[in-house]
Amino acid sequence: MGRTLIIGAGGVGNVVAKKCVMNSDVFTEICLASRTLAKPNNIRDEIRQYLGKDIQTAAVDADDAKQVVELIKKFKPEIVINVALPYQDLPIMDACLETGVHYLDTANYEPRDVAKFEYSWQWAYQERFAKKGILAVLGSGFDPGVTNVYCAYAQKNLFDTIRTIDILDCNAGSHGKAFATNFNPEINIREVTQPARYWEKGQWRETPPIIEEGSVHFLHEYPGVGTYDSYLLYHEEMESLVKNIRGLERIRFWMTFGQQYLTHLRVLQNVGMTRIDEVDYDGCKVVPLKFLKAVLPEPSSLGKNYIGKTHIGCVIHGQKNGKDKGVYLFNICDHAETYKEVQGQAISYTTGVPAMIGAMMVLRGIWKGQGVFNIEQFDPDPFMEQLNKQGLPWKVIDYNKSL
Ligand code: NDP
Repeated sequence: MGRTLIIGAGGVGNVVAKKCVMNSDVFTEICLASRTLAKPNNIRDEIRQYLGKDIQTAAVDADDAKQVVELIKKFKPEIVINVALPYQDLPIMDACLETGVHYLDTANYEPRDVAKFEYSWQWAYQERFAKKGILAVLGSGFDPGVTNVYCAYAQKNLFDTIRTIDILDCNAGSHGKAFATNFNPEINIREVTQPARYWEKGQWRETPPIIEEGSVHFLHEYPGVGTYDSYLLYHEEMESLVKNIRGLERIRFWMTFGQQYLTHLRVLQNVGMTRIDEVDYDGCKVVPLKFLKAVLPEPSSLGKNYIGKTHIGCVIHGQKNGKDKGVYLFNICDHAETYKEVQGQAISYTTGVPAMIGAMMVLRGIWKGQGVFNIEQFDPDPFMEQLNKQGLPWKVIDYNKSL
């Protein structure tokens, strides 16, 4: 049905490639490309070993739109799944525009020199994508991604009016390392060291970053997983959800962090290792956070000994038939199980599976359109159905407690 180019062969790229291979009726030909050939080739070899199938691989510097255009012209995909880094979003979108190929990603564009999370740069492609007759699907991971689809599903099927949304992301797993991040360390640390923000009654309100005095946190019980300290954090899906969920009064995002992670992060921040500007070292220009990334474990290497579960979901309150109502929509994912299936940990899995499903929706012609769309703007039902089939089953329970 569709030739698919996947760019990025890290933790998430590994999962996307293997899940696409497992759905070869939709993804008929796959090319996995990354900055260097070694990572895609390793994944290709595992695919041969575990799944008995073959994929193509390529090296591409996706910071350079011209290289992406050349690769697209050579491989001729119908869709590009971008699971490289947020810095590459715009050059890959440019290449899709030039060649008339659909685009999908899991994280919004970030400029390298300032840690800023907003969709403005990608939304600015709306007219050009529409004119070209192609589709850009933004944020098809778990959060953003599945969490947006949960909200769209609630809006379509469970509520007349949604008043509040709390997105709650818990990793109750343990990788056994003193300090590691579950997705790209540079991107992860840029995100979690920012001031927290939530949206209420039409306004963004700011609170201190998770490692500073005054950060907002509370103990939340994640059904089936346990009770964990959960910190208010800014997360990009809120920006599109405030536009696309009608009548919304408040939206917040919470993530669990253990004391060991917070202590390491606080020290790294205090000694300057999370800086994103260049410093002079022995006549060389070094960005401390990039150097730190180079010495931290790769997210794709964490899977082997990872135990425990993730629990990510949305608590939604509103009204149905004139009565107050609350629900909790969530997924629980087990690190050891995902390792058994795709040799990857649950954070990569919960991101990679929805990226594959989003691309499946486009290739099957279920999600159609011309222009740039956030994932909650499409029909959530077929995506929700695939989540149950592809390894991320969801539950919905009544939840009347207010947070
Ligand atoms: P990794 O660091 O494991 O992998 C990133 C991959 O991109 C590597 O293969 C890397 O190659 C490649 N890459 C980096 N720069 C370039 C470039 N210029 N050209 C081509 N390839 C490049 O990260 P993850 O797999 O953990 O994360 C991938 C993406 O998924 C990130 O954007 C992250 O923000 C997003 N994400 C989204 C989530 C969600 O729920 N929405 C959750 C988790 C992650 P090399 O290592 O050789 O540089």
